[in-house]
Amino acid sequence: MKYDTNQLEINKVQKSKIEEVNFDNLVFGEIFTDHMFECDYANGEWQNPKIKPYGPIQLAPSAKVFHYGQAVFEGMKAYKDEDDQIWLFRPDENFKRINKSSARLAIPEFPEEFFFNGLEELLKLEKDWIKKGFGNSLYIRPFVIATEECVSANPATKYKFMIICSPAQAYYSGEVRVQFSEKYSRAADGGVGAAKAAGNYAAQFYPTNLAKEAGFQQIIWTDANTHEFLEEAGTMNIFFRVGDKLITAPTSDRILDGVTRKSVIDLAKDLNIEVEIRRVKVSEIVEAARKGELKEIFGSGTATVINPISGFGYKGEKFELPKLEDSYGKSFKDRLMKIQYNQAEDKHGWRH
Ligand code: PMP
Repeated sequence: MKYDTNQLEINKVQKSKIEEVNFDNLVFGEIFTDHMFECDYANGEWQNPKIKPYGPIQLAPSAKVFHYGQAVFEGMKAYKDEDDQIWLFRPDENFKRINKSSARLAIPEFPEEFFFNGLEELLKLEKDWIKKGFGNSLYIRPFVIATEECVSANPATKYKFMIICSPAQAYYSGEVRVQFSEKYSRAADGGVGAAKAAGNYAAQFYPTNLAKEAGFQQIIWTDANTHEFLEEAGTMNIFFRVGDKLITAPTSDRILDGVTRKSVIDLAKDLNIEVEIRRVKVSEIVEAARKGELKEIFGSGTATVINPISGFGYKGEKFELPKLEDSYGKSFKDRLMKIQYNQAEDKHGWRH
C-alpha cells in the first residue's frame, strides 16, 4: 500500500499548556507535550494515523496488553541547535529496532512512512517544547500495545502504535555504583533480551530494588547460564576500559543493540582507540580492578548518552574506580553531544 502523507489527520489543542511548565526544573519523564501520535492496526493493516491532543486513551479491561504483555517501545531524543533547527540522532535505527522488537513479540511491523511522517509532523507541532542549550532535549517515546479485547493467549489482531514526547534536561545522576548480578538474570538465550519489550523492564525492578538496598544504583546483568560474563545494564550497554583498551560485549539475542553503543564503537575507531567486542568475564574485570588496570566503566544509552560508573560490587566486595583526567567516557559524551546539537561535523551522517 502506498502511504499518502495527506492521510495524517491533525487535531491541534486549543491552548498549549507549555506556559505552565517550569523548564528549569524538569523531572525526567513526568511532563508530556500537547500532542501525541496514534495509529491503529485492524483488519490486517495499520490505518488512520492521527495526531491529537495528549490525553488518556480508552482500553477494555480485556485488552491483551494487560494480560500477556504484548508491548514494545523505543526511546529517542530531538535536539535544537542555535539556529532553531531540530535534529534527531540516527532515528532510522530506532525505527528498525521497534520493528525488530515487534517481530519478536508477534506484533505486526509498522510502516516506515507512517513512522517518519507522524514523528516529523508531531515534532513540528511541539517545536517550542524543545529548548536550546546543551543537554536540553525532547525525549520521544514510540510504543505499541495489543488492544484486542480477548483473553485467549494468542497474538492480538488489534494494536495501537503511539508516540508521546516529554521535555528533558541534562541531569546529573549522581555517582553510580553498580552490582554485578550473581543470581538474577535479565535475559536468556533465545529469549527477548534483544527486544525493547515492556516486560523486560518490569522484571528488572525487583532485583534492582534489592541492589539499591545493598547500596548500589544499578545492576550489571550477567549471562543467565553461568553469571560469569558481564552483559549490559537496565537501560544502558556497558563499556570497560582496561589500560587503554575498551571492551564491550557483543550484541546477541540477550543484549539490546544500542544506538549509542554502536556510535561509541565508531567514534573509538575514529580516535584510534582499540575496541574489543567480545564476551567480558567478571573475573577479568575484578582482576583488572585489583591490579589497578581497570580505568573506567561507563554505560551508553539515549537517556544520559554516557553514564560514568564510579564503582562496583561483586560477591560482597566493593571496588572503586579512579577519577580520570583523560576519561574516554567524557570524551565520547562530548563528541556525541556536539554531533547531536549540530556543533560538530557529522561525518557518519547520524543527524536527521
Ligand atoms: N540496553 C537496554 C536494555 C536499553 O533499554 C537501552 C535503552 N534503549 C540501551 C541498552 C541503550 O540503547 P540506546 O543507546 O539505543 O538508547
